[in-house]
Amino acid sequence: MSAGPAAWEGPAHSRATPTSRPSPVELLLQVGASLHAALVVDSQGRIVWMDSVLAGAAGWRSGPPVGRSAEEVLGGLPWLRHALDEALTGTDGLREDAGQEQRLSAVVVPVFGEDGTQLGACARLRKSELPGPEAAREPQALCPGAAEERRAREHLEHQTSLLRATFDSITDGVIVVDLARRITAFNKRFQEMWGLTDAMMEERDAEKALASVEPWVTAPAQFIAFIRQGFEPSSAYRDYIVELRDGRVFECGSIPQMLGDAIIGRIWSYREVTAERQALAEQGRLLAAEHEARERLEESFALLDTFLNHAPIALGFIGRDLRCLRINDALAALHGRRREDDLGRTVREMTPQLAPIVEPLIRQVLDEGIPIIGLNMTGEGPGTSGEQRHWNVSYYPVRSASGTILGVGAVVAEITEEYRAQAERDRLLREAEEAIRVRDDFLSIAAHELKTPLTPLKLHLQMLKGQADASGHVVAPRHVDKALAQLARLSVLVNDLLDTSRIQAGKLELTTEPIPLREFIREVLSDFRGTNSLHSLWFEAPDEPLVIRGDRARLAQVLANLVENAFKYSPSGGTVRVTALRMGTEACVSVKDEGIGIPKEEQAHLFERFFRARNAPISGFGGLGLGLYICRDIIERHGGRIWVESEVEHGSTFHFALPCL
Ligand code: ADP
Repeated sequence: MSAGPAAWEGPAHSRATPTSRPSPVELLLQVGASLHAALVVDSQGRIVWMDSVLAGAAGWRSGPPVGRSAEEVLGGLPWLRHALDEALTGTDGLREDAGQEQRLSAVVVPVFGEDGTQLGACARLRKSELPGPEAAREPQALCPGAAEERRAREHLEHQTSLLRATFDSITDGVIVVDLARRITAFNKRFQEMWGLTDAMMEERDAEKALASVEPWVTAPAQFIAFIRQGFEPSSAYRDYIVELRDGRVFECGSIPQMLGDAIIGRIWSYREVTAERQALAEQGRLLAAEHEARERLEESFALLDTFLNHAPIALGFIGRDLRCLRINDALAALHGRRREDDLGRTVREMTPQLAPIVEPLIRQVLDEGIPIIGLNMTGEGPGTSGEQRHWNVSYYPVRSASGTILGVGAVVAEITEEYRAQAERDRLLREAEEAIRVRDDFLSIAAHELKTPLTPLKLHLQMLKGQADASGHVVAPRHVDKALAQLARLSVLVNDLLDTSRIQAGKLELTTEPIPLREFIREVLSDFRGTNSLHSLWFEAPDEPLVIRGDRARLAQVLANLVENAFKYSPSGGTVRVTALRMGTEACVSVKDEGIGIPKEEQAHLFERFFRARNAPISGFGGLGLGLYICRDIIERHGGRIWVESEVEHGSTFHFALPCL
């Protein structure tokens, strides 16, 4: 049976019944379609299908020609009727109408079934110009029938080979399968794509071909179901993506093969889209990667923002134009602003006071790419005018992946508290060192002070012993007096030490009584009369009687200490003047001398334990620096106060005031 690859646009025809084997009429129609026949007749010469133009040319006006005999219908075209008759006897032929202006010729082809029986014949028409005079002289004119037939056959073969070549040159693989699942046409590309052998294709068995390609496909069940669905007659357009195990991907489309209205098979086309698919997959992969990268970036920014904003230290990023590109709350707060307000500002706008220091540092990091770490800066913070604050500042170059310096990262840690704590530690250290120095001084002074009276005491006692040994000699009273004086000095020192330890332990107790001040002062001063030839001692008694309440012995100790100091620190002699007067509700007692005086800056420390002014050298002014300390404690225990007025080289005046009764 003849078969061709070309599609055929046939006229209206009854729909073919889908059976596993097509009927002889269906086969005739299929062949007619592939030959673009204008006339199809069965083996009996009855018309199966006829082109309406041909019917017109034949002069048939009596309704549809199908089913009529060719002899009846082709009355106007006897040459065609004759050719059909010949074809129905099994011979092909080409006939031509010689009676028209335009020569109408036809190739008439007999159609045989698989069993070899003739099913009918198809006639394909062609129009051609009238031949010239030369043509009339051609030999075939002498034998027109044979020559025309040869030309028509050649023409048909030419057309067929052209069609074949075109069909094979299509880049898509195409296969046509009829309703009997027989391959009616295919091109080379199809065969190549599926790797089907010539032997397989020659069998024309679509099911067999399908079975042979099944192992190639990744999802064979779906693929086979898709193809089999297409074997059933349907007008639907179908498409499907076939993935092969070797990685290739085919895009498959199928459309029904029509003969007029009749579906006579299906045309399948396969296009390899592996590269497109791969490109698409790659594009998808790239998109996914880009999406993921963007998400990661956003995540990184979110993380960075979180850390940046919640970091306890101040952080910022300054761009090459010295503008703030990122900043956290802590750093903005140092400038007295909110984060949003600082973004985009220049360093000078953010911190005008520190800009002259900060800008050159940032420029240096931008130029040299070397970080500046741990710089201590001091300045005033916002809203704390006058109060100095301290910061530890570091600047780091921030580089891109290629190494370009994008800007500077600033890390600022406020260390004001640490700074103050350090200052406090330094102060305490200084005080401790001072205390140690004072202690060492005290020990050396105490040793000296305690030792000083011992030598003369020993001397006087030896004298007394010598005199006692020498029988008959009377002990000289001056030696006894001097020994007693040294003992008194020793006992003062020891008493001062004892009082100090009592004060420290909070155990200095007072036994108070009302004391008339004038008499009391006279009594205390009387002990000094005649003891000192270098100084004169004066007392200016108050006009009115002043009575205070106090511990007589302790207050006497205070006054005596002040008078002794007045003598002691007036080495050139002079007058020591004691006064007492009322000052509001208080009685104020003052002891004024004309001695060495006390430096201003040391006066505040005078009443501290062990304190001795720097102008009180040991020699000649011996003492432990305890007297005034004990005096202050005693006076304050009485509810009073003690103070000094003094000028170096111009004497000193010590005052104490006590509440009057
Ligand atoms: P001391 O006299 O035993 O050293 P004080 O406590 O009595 O101890 O005095 C403390 C210091 O005060 C003295 O070392 C001296 O430097 C200074 N001072 C006390 N009284 C006078 C004074 N009248 N004139 C000058 N300096 C004085």
